[in-house]
Amino acid sequence: MSFKERVFSGVQPTGNLHLGNYLGAIVKFVALQENYDCIYCVVDLHAITVWQDPAELPRATREVTAAFLACGINPKQHIVFNQSQVAEHAELAWVFNCVARVGWLNRMTQFKEKAGKDRENASVGLYSYPTLMAADILVYRATHVPVGEDQKQHLELSRDVAQKFNNDYAAAIRSHGYGDVFFPQPEPLIQGPATRVMSLRDGTKKMSKSDASDYSRINLTDDADAIAQKIRKAKTDPEPLPSEEKGLEPRPEADNLVGIYAALAGVTRAEVLKDFGGSQFSTFKSALVDLAVAKLGPVGAEMKRLVHDPVYIDSVLADGAARAQIIAADTMKAVKDIVGFVRG
Ligand code: ATP
Ligand code: MG
Repeated sequence: MSFKERVFSGVQPTGNLHLGNYLGAIVKFVALQENYDCIYCVVDLHAITVWQDPAELPRATREVTAAFLACGINPKQHIVFNQSQVAEHAELAWVFNCVARVGWLNRMTQFKEKAGKDRENASVGLYSYPTLMAADILVYRATHVPVGEDQKQHLELSRDVAQKFNNDYAAAIRSHGYGDVFFPQPEPLIQGPATRVMSLRDGTKKMSKSDASDYSRINLTDDADAIAQKIRKAKTDPEPLPSEEKGLEPRPEADNLVGIYAALAGVTRAEVLKDFGGSQFSTFKSALVDLAVAKLGPVGAEMKRLVHDPVYIDSVLADGAARAQIIAADTMKAVKDIVGFVRG
């Protein structure tokens, strides 16, 4: 069976949106609008898998929305909304909790990383995060999912959930007239030079909203001075840049900065090294500061303008939620029939 092509992805309102979210996800979201119907979600249900201050969450939700809009996502042509306004996400997640296996979730590295040593004290939601993510995607029967490299494992689990549902309920799917398969196998879109932007302080750790050090990341709302300072202070090694990509392999910090430059400039690592191979980091960092400020400055400024108008942001989210729900409700009706839930 062929499915209508549709893109879905989400970003959590968990704090400071950073360069990794921008290059790994949001830039891709923008580009995909041209060829696909896209649904972009501020995933607030995911956010509360770790504690979020209720006084802070609405601001963070509006800020992610502002980032989407500031980067060029068109909420009229596509759909932008926050997850908690469409209850079908949570409803389908429950069904998927009963499809996915404990053994699958036990393998998820994000849970292990986020739960840390005190696993007994992590929320149940943090553990079952991937089944909610599968529901986010599959409640729209989305076929393509742009994400950063860190979400690859969760995407694979989403594919497994779709397949197991299709198998377990094959007879009911057929008897209700949905053909051989009800859910598509969502395809991860993880491409380009910045699928995993690393911390500026430690080239072996992913740049993250939750890192205690603000110097580890470039926030989308950082001004030119902050961007310059963070890049100048970014950890490097003493060698000049190599001329070949192979020379980056044992040098995670150099590899990261070159990858960031490549992604911001829309070129490959090899092309960056053609220009900067043999240069000292001081020279390369100056060029990177100029490029980052030129690219991120306007985004940050537009975000700041937009967050001053929460009424407008909320209207975008409400409108998007209403349109998303029409699709999601349709899927849930079918799922209820397939699973065997009586409905009026
Ligand atoms: P948290 O620490 O709360 O999980 P996060 O920075 O990982 O925050 P998410 O909202 O979980 O942000 O992820 C949003 C999108 O950004 C996902 O597609 C994720 O893969 C991508 N992403 C997150 N961090 C990076 C990174 N360092 N490099 C590239 N992409 C990233
Ligand atoms: Mg994350």
